[in-house]
Amino acid sequence: MKQKLKTSVIGSYPVCIDTLELINDYFSERESSWTRYIEQAVHDMTTAGIDFVSDGQTRDPFIQLFARKLRGCRIRDRTEIIGHVECNGPITVPDQKYARTLLPRNTGLVGVLTGPYTLTKSSVDFFYHDEKELCFDFAAALRNEAVLLQKHVDLISIDEPFFSNELPEYAEELVGAITNGLSCPTRLHVCGDVSRIIPQLVEMPVDILSHEFKASPHLFESFREYSCLRKICLGAVRSDDVRVESVEEIVTHIKKAIAIFGENIVQIAPDCGQRLLPRETAFHKLQNLSAAGEIINGG
Ligand SMILES: [Zn+2]
Repeated sequence: MKQKLKTSVIGSYPVCIDTLELINDYFSERESSWTRYIEQAVHDMTTAGIDFVSDGQTRDPFIQLFARKLRGCRIRDRTEIIGHVECNGPITVPDQKYARTLLPRNTGLVGVLTGPYTLTKSSVDFFYHDEKELCFDFAAALRNEAVLLQKHVDLISIDEPFFSNELPEYAEELVGAITNGLSCPTRLHVCGDVSRIIPQLVEMPVDILSHEFKASPHLFESFREYSCLRKICLGAVRSDDVRVESVEEIVTHIKKAIAIFGENIVQIAPDCGQRLLPRETAFHKLQNLSAAGEIINGG
């Protein structure tokens, strides 16, 4: 490969959150603890040698992270929609700006947006009673965030795991409502088995498609006839299994991908966010991913 392969993360990272400390912060109106969690996530990712890191999405799970900051949403046991969903100011931008200050030179930052379809499907709707309308209002609010975010990050990644369960007929339009006209490169992450929806995925208005090729290796065959069409972020270590893949195993996996996709393999990453792994395991997987990338790049 002439072009260098970049290592990346999908989004979330497991850090050791001290709940008692956060409760104390809350009642004393301090916010300082969060910066330490972002520091832990960024530290691990950069120490492992990852080229495109995230802020670790430590503040909240990926649904609440957005729902908490949007008008029209209320967090109870689940996210409830109780009014028009609208932007209410920056959501992830402050954490991204802080993460940016921690990065070594030449390390890129991924801004992660939970997709509008996944936000809709994870909510209980007491207001719209029209799934498509709710989706597009989420998309408009996320578009606002993306416009703010692109000044601070090097890649915007839209995380839409629900697309692998069921793809709405307006999926392409929905993603475009966020990405059209952005100056920042974009990536669509859909984990799960996407083999049935590849013809639709390759039409998506993003620069890179990101899928879990490690947990679902049959995707190699499913993608074969579309392999020249899109740039790919290759899932190369599992996010749902504590076994740490060896460097050799990851190199073999990447070579298999390159044999099919050629230079369209532009990034390697974990299959999904690493939130559910122990921190040591997540770190070790990133280290091996990075070492495998260096071998492929001829370093
Ligand atoms: Zn995922």
